[in-house]
Amino acid sequence: MSKKDIRALTKDQLRDFFVSQGDKAFRGNQVYEWLWSKSAHSFADMTNISKQTRDQLEENFVINHIKVDNMQRSKDGTVKNAVKLHDGLIVESVLIPTESRTTACVSSQVGCSLDCEFCATARLKRMRNLNADEIYDQVAAINQESLHYYNHKLSNIVYMGMGEPLMNYNNVMKSIEMITSEEGLGMSPKRITVSTSGLPKMIKKLADDEVKFNLAVSLHSAIEDTRNKIMPFSKNFPLTDLRESLEYWYEKTQSRVTYEYVVWRDINDKQEDINALVQFCSYIPCKVNLIEYNPIDDGEYQQASNKAIDDYVYTLEKNGIVVNVRRSRGKDIDAACGQLANKS
Ligand code: SAH
Repeated sequence: MSKKDIRALTKDQLRDFFVSQGDKAFRGNQVYEWLWSKSAHSFADMTNISKQTRDQLEENFVINHIKVDNMQRSKDGTVKNAVKLHDGLIVESVLIPTESRTTACVSSQVGCSLDCEFCATARLKRMRNLNADEIYDQVAAINQESLHYYNHKLSNIVYMGMGEPLMNYNNVMKSIEMITSEEGLGMSPKRITVSTSGLPKMIKKLADDEVKFNLAVSLHSAIEDTRNKIMPFSKNFPLTDLRESLEYWYEKTQSRVTYEYVVWRDINDKQEDINALVQFCSYIPCKVNLIEYNPIDDGEYQQASNKAIDDYVYTLEKNGIVVNVRRSRGKDIDAACGQLANKS
């Protein structure tokens, strides 16, 4: 009989297990704390649990903890972890420090099933979804690194690593539940952002589930034909559907959305592209992050000129839209947006 992954159990199920073994339900709480907030890698780590109980756990369960296989540190302080999963597959996660905070960027899938032409992860086919504990462990590992290198706890989390979080909905939700719960890391959902390529049905589901975290949408173009060209999967999700789902999101959550947007030369750097974005931004309260392009290919996609970026900023601001220009971090170690591809 193969042993069960103990972290697939809820706290109540763990309490029930101990009761069924003639022990106290309370033992379940203790073990649960070891598994989550204390990130125990093995039953032997659980020092306030008797040897007999630990043996009993060992007989029945495994802890499929991730292992940070390789850690690289960039000149700018960005840290990239190559994380080995229990079945040998690898994902990457990133720690991004700024003066005032540290942000974890975590993966939600091994590879990705979407086909964004400008993204390195899209070239790895999707192998599998991550479990909630595998996502949680990436965050816990980066929290430790944040304490170690920067002397403070992790302040923010973005689901912007490998994969499409909304195609692994349940595990992503479960991981956030643990990250925000007092038994996990006790972080505020306001400090968590889930980034989606824009799947209307799933955005509506988030709204129905009344989530408290932030939503970011990788828009990149508000012109249908252009978006379909650079993100081919979006042919199945017309911009009117995306718009409608975002209106629904805002109506339910009253939480403004962030649009992520890269400006490329000859793709979306013209005034008509800017005007379409301004129009799209009028539908619900939002802000725009203009992300620097991180080249991943042989030059088909190129970062637009500074002038084009300035034009975007000027027109957006003139229309009262909040816009940030985001410089890339960790490029020298392939840790920047869209560069995660298990190269090492
Ligand atoms: N699948 C999710 C999350 C992962 S991608 C999503 O699409 O949002 C995280 C962000 O990086 C997205 O906004 C994505 O469009 C952007 N991105 C992908 N490749 C990039 C690249 N080469 N340079 C800059 N940003 C990129």
